[in-house]
Parts: sequence; structure tokens; C-alpha cells
Amino acid sequence: MKYPPSASECRISEIFSSLQGEGIHLGERHIFIRFEECHIHCEYCDELDKVGHLHTQNSVLEKVTALETDKGPHSFISLTGGEPLIYLAFLKPLLKNLKLRGFKTYLETDGILHQPLQDVLHLCDCIAMDMKPPSVTKEKDFREQHRRFLEIATKQETFVKIVLSKEIVHQEFFDLVGIIRDVAPKTPLVLQPISRDLEGHQDQELMALLEELQRNALRQIPNVRIVPRLHKILKIQ
Ligand code: SF4
Repeated sequence: MKYPPSASECRISEIFSSLQGEGIHLGERHIFIRFEECHIHCEYCDELDKVGHLHTQNSVLEKVTALETDKGPHSFISLTGGEPLIYLAFLKPLLKNLKLRGFKTYLETDGILHQPLQDVLHLCDCIAMDMKPPSVTKEKDFREQHRRFLEIATKQETFVKIVLSKEIVHQEFFDLVGIIRDVAPKTPLVLQPISRDLEGHQDQELMALLEELQRNALRQIPNVRIVPRLHKILKIQ
């Protein structure tokens, strides 16, 4: 990491109020705390060029409290990134501080770092975990890490999101569905069309592929949804 975090200081690229644009809490009002860095690099990522600023526990809590007063009430404080779990030293006391102030917490994560998750699981009200097919991310294969992550996460409210492009290798997708089926079959699975120059929901061929994958996945697990990114459709932050 460029800037190793401590319990008292950490680099955060933005803190803002908006609508949750992804997953099963789509459309709710959330406050987003976006951590700067990630430990992997998905080919389609549009977050990693955002520059962070040094924050303390107090500066984050002051900003969150001001946003709650000005733009609340909010359903959740969403810890996002980047990858929040690489900031464990800062994240854990921050989650505790948010819970002490009565906020509900929502962890958006790439679903890989299962050991840090153990440490903060009891402080997370909802876990939005990704599963990453390498044919889409052009990254490593994280199937085993996703399995272990889901085994832990499922003790709290959890859903899985898979970003899909037309490059998806179908066997990779069905292996990921098989992990959900074997570990926690009632976990909702969200299929999200990839965003590149064209937002995925505008690509009819991609949407037809997602429907085919959805129908096949529904033969194994009961809750599979196609959810494009709302904030891109509404053109909001
Ligand atoms: S896991 Fe998320 S933040 Fe990290 S590179 Fe992939 S899309 Fe970007």
C-alpha cells in the first residue's frame, strides 16, 4: 500500500450522501465513505484514480454527523472503496464509533479478505460482497477466498454481486453460483451488467446474456436478480 493506515489516520477519497445505486438496498439513502486504495485491480474499475485525503476518526465522524443532519435520515453508512478491509486498523474503530452513534453499517467489499472480515463481522449490519470471475476482471481466480468469505459473512445480512461482461466464461459463473448453493443458498445474488464507455443496461446483447445466466442460476438458488447501477442511470454521484 502507498499509505499504510493506522488506527487514527487513513486516506479517504470521498464522504457523501446519495442513493445506494447497487444491490438489494437500491434506492435507499446512504452516506458513503470511500477508502482510497484496493489490493487488486479489476480491468473495469472506475474508482482507483480517485485521490484520497488524510482523515482522522474525528474528521470522518464530524462529516458523517453533518451529512446526517443536512441530508438524512440515511438507512446505512456504506463503507466502500477501494477495499475497506485493507484498512482494518482504521476500519474497526470507525465501525465501533458509528455503531455507538446509532448508525447501521454496510460493508461493500470484493469478498476476498476473509480474515479481516472475522474481526469486524459483528460491527457490520449488511455485507455486500463481490464475487470476481477472472474472465471479466482479468485478475486472479479468487473462488476459494470467496467460499471462505461467504462462510463467515452469512452470519449477518449478506448478498453477493457479480459484475458480468460478454467475456464471462460460463463455467466460472456457475462455479460461483455453486459456492452460494453449497454455503448459503438463500443468499440473494445480484447480476450487474458491466459499465464501460457504454453502461451495461444499454447493451441489449449483454442484457440477453444476463437473462440467460439468471434463468440458469435460478435452477440452483432461489434469489437471483439483474440490477443495473441506478446512480449511472440517474446521473448522480
Ligand atoms: S475490487 Fe472494486 S475497488 Fe478493487 S479494483 Fe475491483 S472494482 Fe475496483
